[in-house]
Amino acid sequence: MKNKHKELKPINADVSLEYKCPSCHASHWLFLRETRTKGFRIVCECDAIIFPKTIKEIKIVYQQIVKETVETTESIKKEPTEEIPFAILSERSLQECCKTLRYFGFDKKEAVEKITDAFENLQTDNIKELVNYVLTHI
Ligand SMILES: [Zn+2]
Repeated sequence: MKNKHKELKPINADVSLEYKCPSCHASHWLFLRETRTKGFRIVCECDAIIFPKTIKEIKIVYQQIVKETVETTESIKKEPTEEIPFAILSERSLQECCKTLRYFGFDKKEAVEKITDAFENLQTDNIKELVNYVLTHI
């Protein structure tokens, strides 16, 4: 390979996520792996039991330099590029999107699926864009 400095991608990641107790507002930090565990719960100092929503995945998106020459495009294609993980679809955005979609007659499960799908395509946490995407891809 001619490319002298090949940029390294991480082989693994851990992400911490903050949850706020709804009754006493205490902060709780969870590792991503914990939020991926079905039935995982936090027992707060105030005795509240908090069930974090199970997270399917979090993506990292690398900054990409797009060159518009055909050659570059071809050489990029030859390398097996993994789907590049990016932005985080926050719980708040997901909820907001679902809320909006329900006005359009989606049920909750459907809304979550559509938004997840839109997120995978758009790689953005922008509520408006996600909802627009869903509504234009029905
Ligand atoms: Zn609490």
